[in-house]
Amino acid sequence: MQSSERQKQRMKERRHELEAKGVCVNCGKRPALSEQKYCKSCSKHRKERARVRLLAIRQAVLDRYGNACACCGESNPGFLTIDHKNNDGWKERKPNGKNFTSSEMICRKLVHGPKRDDIQILCYNCNCAKQRLGSCPHHPSVPAPRRVRGARRKDV
Ligand SMILES: [Zn+2]
Ligand SMILES: [Zn+2]
Ligand SMILES: [Zn+2]
Repeated sequence: MQSSERQKQRMKERRHELEAKGVCVNCGKRPALSEQKYCKSCSKHRKERARVRLLAIRQAVLDRYGNACACCGESNPGFLTIDHKNNDGWKERKPNGKNFTSSEMICRKLVHGPKRDDIQILCYNCNCAKQRLGSCPHHPSVPAPRRVRGARRKDV
């Protein structure tokens, strides 16, 4: 255990050295992009890997929370979003008003933490309508004036 700690420390020092020299801390060869720790090629790879990782963890959240829009039943994952029922997602992003929590971290918590009642899956359409109008027109929380006599509202 101790030696791996020492190794970690050495890696850290090496990264600091490279960073100070303006060399990519990943490959240790190519010059780092200005204001960044990585060269162009490593930076591209890292971004791509992060994108794939985010897609996978997002899918795991969708799987756990039903894989379909809670409002209209849309089930194409490309259309689905993770919705905070009380519209307080910002609290999760910035829990102490300062530090920004990444989408990946949030998804990780939703997959590995206890299942939550304040989270639901919505498609983009229903989510946008909810943000804009307070509730999706598919299932208005304030019933719209009745237009058709005798028409029954569907279950919410
Ligand atoms: Zn590199
Ligand atoms: Zn929907
Ligand atoms: Zn809807």
